Amino acid sequence: MALHDKFGRAITDLRISITDRCNYKCVYCRTGNEGALYGDLPFSDYLRMARVLVGMGITKVRLTGGEPLLRNSVVEFVRELAKLRPQGLKPPSSTSGNGAAEAAPFQSSFREIGEPLDIALTTNGHLLAEMAQPLKDAGLTRVTVSMDAVDPDRFARITRVPNGYDHVLAGIRAARRAGLWPLKVNCVLMRGFNEDQIIPFGMFAREEGVTVRFIEFMPLEEGRTWAPSTVVTLDEILARMAEYRPLVEIPHARSETARRYRFEDGVGEIGIIAPVSHPFCGHCSRIRITSDGKIRTCLFSVWDHDLHAQMRRGASDEELADFIHGVVAKKEERHHIGEPDFVPASRTMVHIGG
Ligand code: SAM
Repeated sequence: MALHDKFGRAITDLRISITDRCNYKCVYCRTGNEGALYGDLPFSDYLRMARVLVGMGITKVRLTGGEPLLRNSVVEFVRELAKLRPQGLKPPSSTSGNGAAEAAPFQSSFREIGEPLDIALTTNGHLLAEMAQPLKDAGLTRVTVSMDAVDPDRFARITRVPNGYDHVLAGIRAARRAGLWPLKVNCVLMRGFNEDQIIPFGMFAREEGVTVRFIEFMPLEEGRTWAPSTVVTLDEILARMAEYRPLVEIPHARSETARRYRFEDGVGEIGIIAPVSHPFCGHCSRIRITSDGKIRTCLFSVWDHDLHAQMRRGASDEELADFIHGVVAKKEERHHIGEPDFVPASRTMVHIGG
């Protein structure tokens, strides 16, 4: 049976953090110091988890971290993942009059049986230039590169890494040449650091032919510096970009996290992911596996579920599937960012996998 939570959401997207080590120390994510690590698992363990979950209705796997390209053998792991075949999710057969509306949440994730798994990667891009083509050849479908300034000095201030900018730009261009497409660039906006980069990123999207997606800063950072005033909101981003060029909204699938816009002249696309000012939890289709093999049902979960412990005790694939069904049944309805009852997540972003 396909995976559904108790709110009727189909779980089709899996994010696997393959390490919680990172070579960057971005201000919105980490402190400037090395913290303790949860550690990571052999790829064979992640592969088994992915195989069981793909058998349960997962159609898309995103590798993340930490920085996933720090792991040796990530190319071989992608090659093995690419052999998995989603089971296919049929839209529910409609008996009521509003069948089209009922089927809508399934449309973006629907895969025909036998169609390849959608394998994506989120990376800071520092090591991507050398690896883009091998990853593409191994079966990677798409890549998202995080880049928070188009000005090299500002980039260094945010990432706390000198000279990273040229590596990342080379990585983006190599990914494009390799055909890792569509290519998205994620920019977390944090007031006081990079809100003046909005228009330069609009220009960048047009010049480089990439989709730049602005992300609202969420309270998942190690330094606990988040406050509502540090968030650069969707409305503010749109207003600033409109000073540069008019935008036209592009219709997007309900399960997509980003609102999408193209420039009116047809050149360039941007997206805005606004979990703080415009939450989209009602359409969440994700679960995450941390680098140490725990399932998290929400970025803001205050607990996680030890899938790897089940494997260590010798659980069969069927027992793992039962465990996963039980975990997904506990998926949170929504996050509570900015509300009086907000409780910080039990892990920060670098140890969850964004
Ligand atoms: N190292 C990889 C990278 O830089 O893309 C993958 C891991 S990183 C944790 C995944 C994504 O989470 C990145 O796009 C990053 O910008 C985003 N991120 C990290 N901390 C965040 C925060 N506090 N709020 C919003 N997004 C955050």
